[in-house]
Amino acid sequence: MSAPEAWRLSATALAARVRGGELAVDDAVEAGWRGPAGTWEAEVRAVVHADPAARAAARPREGPLAGVPVLVKDNICTTDYPTTCASRILAGYRPPYDATVVSRLRAAGAVVVGKGNMDEFAMGSSTEYSCYGPTRNPYDLDRVPGGSSGGPAAAVAYGLCPLALGSDTGGSVRQPAAFCGVLGLKPTYGRFSRYGLVAFGSSLDQVGIFARHTGDLAAAYAALAGPDPLDATTRPGEAPDVSGWRAGVTGLSFGWPANLWREGVDPEVVGGLEEAAARLERSGATRVTFDFLPGEYSVAAYYLVATAEASSNLARFDGVRYGFRHADSADLRALYTRTRSEGFGPEVQRRILLGTYALSAGYYDAYYLTAQRARTRIREEYRAAFARCDFLMMPAAPSLPFRLGEKIEDPLAMYLSDIFTIGANLAGIPGLSVPVGLSRAGLPLAVQMLGPEDGEPVLLRAAAVLEAGGEVARLEGEDTPEFAWPTKR
Ligand code: GLN
Repeated sequence: MSAPEAWRLSATALAARVRGGELAVDDAVEAGWRGPAGTWEAEVRAVVHADPAARAAARPREGPLAGVPVLVKDNICTTDYPTTCASRILAGYRPPYDATVVSRLRAAGAVVVGKGNMDEFAMGSSTEYSCYGPTRNPYDLDRVPGGSSGGPAAAVAYGLCPLALGSDTGGSVRQPAAFCGVLGLKPTYGRFSRYGLVAFGSSLDQVGIFARHTGDLAAAYAALAGPDPLDATTRPGEAPDVSGWRAGVTGLSFGWPANLWREGVDPEVVGGLEEAAARLERSGATRVTFDFLPGEYSVAAYYLVATAEASSNLARFDGVRYGFRHADSADLRALYTRTRSEGFGPEVQRRILLGTYALSAGYYDAYYLTAQRARTRIREEYRAAFARCDFLMMPAAPSLPFRLGEKIEDPLAMYLSDIFTIGANLAGIPGLSVPVGLSRAGLPLAVQMLGPEDGEPVLLRAAAVLEAGGEVARLEGEDTPEFAWPTKR
């Protein structure tokens, strides 16, 4: 097989050909760069650091992901590329170590092919708050790819690589996956190590995976999940076994909290949900309808907890330890102030201010403590829901991909695009966005599924059924459904 065709393959098929000697490692790793990147990258701008020499340095021939190219979000530490969180304050920073998820990827045979664009410090929902400029949606170049992991999502969608890593603090893997028509998994809190993931909201952050095929998601999950002595918040014990992702959904029940999308959700998004539910029912799953806690409480609680943790985590960027430093400051105080004023963009500064305020004496009880109480309540609501069903279905985002510039002047409108995703981070449960087709205008439609803690195996089974269009027979063969590739418009 020649390199120009290899980019269409699933990660597992690509790795099998590399291990079998049918495909040279170089052709596997470079397939996306020689193929679709030439057509797309100059306009989409998914990648912020690339280096052909770094790609050529590794030549793995073994492992479940042998020779598989993977784009890694720019807030995940890599020794062979800069890690800047798309922020001026980390300009030129090169970590002295790999994140655990990166070393596990490499141990499985994968090759990091560059760093993906993102909203600065993962704060945003459109990838417009990047010091490198925005990424565009491959399905419509006037629209955003979602965020904050817009670069990795767009790269998987246009064919640069079959897998990518992002981070999800409040939806930053699931929402861009939905906007770019690919799968996006946020695992259970603690299932993937956060060692080497630059912290935003430590109690919410999880690394997540983008893929075009469910089998690839399962392979990457198996390679990455499990305890890490370098991250005390990883879950002890073995990670759940996801190898049964082809098992179908017969006998499973899914919760259908239709009150959540009665208003404020695009009718085409609701249509996509109905289509997905029908595919699951045709395949033997049962729908359980009930009302569920409204999402606005989650948005309020999230933006207090996340900004409070961010204000503390980002204190380390002081112009002394990393990256950018303001050139002439008379004293230490001026050095800190000028470095942080010029190094951080407007959204990051807004979050630091909000978080510092929420934690300050006199306001702590009213804001931070109340938000923590709401968080506990939200966690309990999810627990109660999973007593009634195996997994929950809901939109990944209330709208289809919006236009560049549409929400950039209105932070609250931007925050509300996370209304369906942030609950999973507050509750620490896994969530998965799955594409279900295209809208009338050719934009990706997606659904989100949420599971109880360690519910990844069930989410992957349901995703495989949706990917197979509800035709369970297709799950049995080696037949991988063709991905709905974007075309230039
Ligand atoms: N969009 C949300 C925010 O801006 C979530 C970001 C994320 O998950 N990293 O905080």
